[in-house]
Amino acid sequence: MQSATHPFLHMIHILLAGLALAGLDACQTAKQDVLITHVRLIDGTGSDAFEGAVRIREGRILDVGDLKAASNDSVIDGRGLVLAPGFIDAHSHHLGHILRNPSSPATASQGITTIVLGQDGSSEPMDSLAALFRSRAFAVNIASYTGQTSLREQVMGEKELLRTATAREIEQMQSLLTKELSKGSLGLSTGLEYEGAFYSSLEEVLALAQTAAASNGRYISHLRSEDFRLDEALSEIIEIGRKTGMPVQVSHIKIADKMCWGQAGRILSRMDSARQQGIDITADVYPYTYWNSTLKVLFPDKQYKDIRSAALACQRLFDADSSMLARFRPNTTYEGRMIADLARERRETPAATLLHLIAAADKYRVADPDADDVEAIAGKSMLEADVRAFTQWKHSVICSDGNAGRHPRGYGSFPRVLGLYVREAGLMRLEEAIHKMTGLTAKQLGIQGRGLIQPGQAADLVLFDPNAIIDHATLQDSHALSTGIHQVWVNGGLVFQDGQTTGQHTGALLKR
Ligand SMILES: [Zn+2]
Repeated sequence: MQSATHPFLHMIHILLAGLALAGLDACQTAKQDVLITHVRLIDGTGSDAFEGAVRIREGRILDVGDLKAASNDSVIDGRGLVLAPGFIDAHSHHLGHILRNPSSPATASQGITTIVLGQDGSSEPMDSLAALFRSRAFAVNIASYTGQTSLREQVMGEKELLRTATAREIEQMQSLLTKELSKGSLGLSTGLEYEGAFYSSLEEVLALAQTAAASNGRYISHLRSEDFRLDEALSEIIEIGRKTGMPVQVSHIKIADKMCWGQAGRILSRMDSARQQGIDITADVYPYTYWNSTLKVLFPDKQYKDIRSAALACQRLFDADSSMLARFRPNTTYEGRMIADLARERRETPAATLLHLIAAADKYRVADPDADDVEAIAGKSMLEADVRAFTQWKHSVICSDGNAGRHPRGYGSFPRVLGLYVREAGLMRLEEAIHKMTGLTAKQLGIQGRGLIQPGQAADLVLFDPNAIIDHATLQDSHALSTGIHQVWVNGGLVFQDGQTTGQHTGALLKR
């Protein structure tokens, strides 16, 4: 979860002002066809790999199979490596990263060719994204949901979010949402655990969800609780799926309450039984046992000054010894340190340290209301066995939930699944893992013409070595590049090769 919309909007406006005259620096239209030969094709459908070649023309896949080089072909020898559809990151926060670096090493180095933004209730207007792509080019495709919290901010005002919306406000939000959907937004996203949406009622969420459904959109949600009230929160999204009839997806599914660790099977059987009743519920998941968010998510009852709430958080919601304060503007010397470590230094309990950090961050925000990302914590709060069970579920897809911050997921998620979960742990077939990064993701999120290696599909492709692929990013070195990704194409343009970005920026804004 990132902070609310406005800092990025502000960043986009600055960029637009500065770059409006710079013009397009991409749009490769290859004169020659590209023929990638001698590869093991994993086509994104989940079916078995097969030997073959792929021909690309003008950003699209022209042909697949046993192809011979033609005179107009520029031939790339795949040397027996795997060629798969480019990975689609179902839940990403990489916008800040690509604004700073349009070559987007964080995504390109993982084989990600499309990121899905607008998550956790926070989004940019589709018009802003379109203007951004007119002024500048990026090495990754972008699709976006429209966030409920952003709609609330526009209609209710940023200082009015700690209540449910009135009927009039809901109508205004519905009309804004309808416009966004008509401009290509994938659907409605919510971040119900966060303050900006926590006080909205089920009726409010449902009214907006109905609007998304009426335009054939989708619903994706950071649930109202990922810990003490996970079961209720799951009931809420199931209800939204039932009442609207549209596909609903649980964002970064997890069990963040130690008392409930080991219950992934039970959670998944609830979701399976909802599916048996005709509710199209799915999930995305990232392969780490710690999340990255604001310290405030450790206080489900929003009692940020209550030492008992803080003690309960230390007991059940995170492990102070291995949870790192990732960002802390009031005192940057605290950044990168474990919470328990800070507590020892401050000669107090970790619970007291939590209260201190939150109070200091709030004070900082009052003094500097425009400051964004004042604090963040990488909170260790999950059981590896649960993460693996969620990853293996037939209806889950892979996401990073990442940006280029201090959590390694921004750089390592996809290679980690392929190296650690598939090759080393054997949790699933390689073809199935690829399906969960490509074809299944496109299907669950409503992205057309991508995610498969088939004639007519966009030429988003990744060439990798399944025997070598592995992540290297850690909490201590969160931007370390993975190994095993050889080449990455976005709309036919080569964006990554030999461990580095190429400077080609062939990404597009994807519309529903
Ligand atoms: Zn989230």
